[in-house]
Amino acid sequence: MGQPEEPMKKKQTIAGYFPHRGGRSGRLRWAWILMALGAIIACREVPIPAASSANAAGAEAAGNGAKAAEATASGISEALAASDTAPLPHIDAKRAFEYTREVTAFGARYMGSENHKKLERYILSHVKGDEVEDDTFTADTVEGKFPIRNIIAKYPGKKDGIIAILGHYDTNYPLRYTGYVGANDGGSSTAILLEFANQLRGKTRDGYSVWLVWTDGEEAVRAWSDSDSLYGTRHLAEKWEKDGTLKKIKALMVMDMIAPKDVAILRDSNSTPWLLDLIYAAAQKGGYQSHFYAIDTAMEDDHIPFVKRGVPCADVIDMPYGYNDVFHHTPQDTMDKLSPDSLQIVGDTILETVRLVDQKP
Ligand SMILES: [Zn+2]
Repeated sequence: MGQPEEPMKKKQTIAGYFPHRGGRSGRLRWAWILMALGAIIACREVPIPAASSANAAGAEAAGNGAKAAEATASGISEALAASDTAPLPHIDAKRAFEYTREVTAFGARYMGSENHKKLERYILSHVKGDEVEDDTFTADTVEGKFPIRNIIAKYPGKKDGIIAILGHYDTNYPLRYTGYVGANDGGSSTAILLEFANQLRGKTRDGYSVWLVWTDGEEAVRAWSDSDSLYGTRHLAEKWEKDGTLKKIKALMVMDMIAPKDVAILRDSNSTPWLLDLIYAAAQKGGYQSHFYAIDTAMEDDHIPFVKRGVPCADVIDMPYGYNDVFHHTPQDTMDKLSPDSLQIVGDTILETVRLVDQKP
């Protein structure tokens, strides 16, 4: 209920995506109306985690353990967050915002382009000295063959297991001559992972190892479909399934389009509920909860190849981008739409979530 007719596909070409730009206008217009209705309905339905939190807090204050003893999935998240007295981690959001600016300044960074290569070198220069692995291959697409390179930086932990954080760094091939620079879509995801690397570098974590993955070929080369999208992660998920890595992954979180001013992360129904709840609990700890889950919908993003293989996943994404999604996949996706405050909100929340996953039984 309250869902679009089909999963919200974040990566479609502008002609196919927007109701006012022609194409499949009627059906898509209904999808948007339904999504808007979903948002209204979600306002009533989504505060379940918040409500249970209020209950738990109230029960605790009254010395009444009855309600706190209610064993729900979100209750476990709340209990984890409440029992944890460690301070909330903080990223350097100013620095992350500068990374976003620098990445965006390369211009269009579509697969096979010179700017893409420059960005690969830029990412590698920032993780120099860290344990870095490449996942490279050639993608055979409807627009020809393209080299794909997922870049993986690994930060060790004492616990046996991996927490993976993914974010794509490519921009859209079909938009290559439009002046499109993807500040939010591609820029912010690249940048926040670079900042996470700064926070993780130079120490062995007490919890699980954290692997950061700059994914490539997330965007469609023509129009979003199962076969024209997610080139990098489809390859990586298959590889990790074969080599046994997937079994070790305790949680996988995708960062995408996370920097718009007054960020609003949606609740993705293709993601794993307990992990979404854990993220919400982490956000509450920072007082950031109003930036999470006002909209409830189904997303297709880099997490899907892992969702299909049973990995606990969360897609952390802000959509629509601008009212009516007007900035998404347009040359208006520029730095002036973004805020370091949003990177702070998402960055702190995700680092806190990593700590909560460490402690999850
Ligand atoms: Zn995109």
